Amino acid sequence: MKIPKILPAKKLIYLDNAATTPIDPSVLKTMQPFWSKSFGNPSSLYKLGVEANNALTTARKKIASTLSARPEEIIFTAGATESINLAIQGVVKATTIKNPHVIISAIEHEAVIEAAKATEAKLTILPVNSIGLIDIDKLKKAITKDTVLVSIMYANNEIGTIEPIHEISKLLRKINLERTAKKLTKIYFHTDASQAAGFLDLNVHKLGVDLLSLNGSKIYGPKQTGILYKSSDIKLKPIIYGGGQENNLRSGTENVAGFVGLAHALEAAQKNKESETKKQTTLRNFFVTQILKNIPAAKLNGPSIVGEESKYRMPNNVSVTFPTLEGEVLVIYLDSYNIAASTGSACTTSSDEPSHVLKAIGVTNKLSRNTVRFSLGKHTTKEELSYTIKVLVNLVKSLPSK
Ligand SMILES: *Cc1c(COP(=O)(O)O)cnc(C)c1O
Repeated sequence: MKIPKILPAKKLIYLDNAATTPIDPSVLKTMQPFWSKSFGNPSSLYKLGVEANNALTTARKKIASTLSARPEEIIFTAGATESINLAIQGVVKATTIKNPHVIISAIEHEAVIEAAKATEAKLTILPVNSIGLIDIDKLKKAITKDTVLVSIMYANNEIGTIEPIHEISKLLRKINLERTAKKLTKIYFHTDASQAAGFLDLNVHKLGVDLLSLNGSKIYGPKQTGILYKSSDIKLKPIIYGGGQENNLRSGTENVAGFVGLAHALEAAQKNKESETKKQTTLRNFFVTQILKNIPAAKLNGPSIVGEESKYRMPNNVSVTFPTLEGEVLVIYLDSYNIAASTGSACTTSSDEPSHVLKAIGVTNKLSRNTVRFSLGKHTTKEELSYTIKVLVNLVKSLPSK
């Protein structure tokens, strides 16, 4: 096998920001005191505990204000997976409906799919179109008198589709008005905003959501930190029992350092969202255009980067199918050049199953395995992308067809 003569990049080119992001140094700095001198348990009554509790209160207020929510509507968790489980399982456990019905989309993260299945509620999985969008009419038709929850993600992690959250909440608000008049229970709307927090608006009232999950690890904050926004009129039951922290909804000693870091990271992510969107969209468009120009067989998955569709695409997502190459092989070769990318979502790479997201948009199993996801971040440069294109072109030319 002829290996192209390009030297590996000196510094890691990290194009897997949808899997996780590095902790920002300013975030790390805010966290450090709570691992060392301010190590108290927020429930303790003496000064050290009060200090930790104050930090937690400040973090909660900061997050609430970023989402235009109230502090008591913010529940701290150990990541988006837990927030999602609490939202979905918590709503189903708390409902008074005998045979509850839950609606999700076909391209949700595994956390949503598996949590919904685990509830044993009746489940409708809404199909999506060829660019990953749900159909509002299909959602409307799927709703029954027993529907208790609709969970549709804000932005997809594999193909970067942004779902029409405002339209969904508008529909649900209208239906809920009619239901209230008929004394039927309200349908709650949950969204998994894990991929959205660095780019899109998170005002929960403008979005019209009742529940929203997000995490620190995708916004230059710490891993295993997350929040669930829960509108105060919603009844939830916990999934973790114990000392009664987080208003009885998430027991266990709080990750004070983690939540202080998460609050700082979320505030920064939301403050910079417009400038990052602008910058990364330009870089993404350059990258996609160059790949498609130099590798004519390559195909972009998800919404197009031009025209009407482009408003439904995340600024940082580039999911590409290379018909003649296996994604995993390409990822390993890219690594030898010091370029980090992934096949599908990081969470499913351990299984051999083709991606359920690509399947849902009509990509065949074979082509699904020939897909690589590049996800840009705030540190990505044009030089890094130019180099990556050069490597890709060479690999496509030199690796045997699969
Ligand atoms: C990363 C991710 C999750 C899981 O988040 P964790 O914090 O790792 O539990 C859920 N949903 C989406 C869309 C994600 O990108």
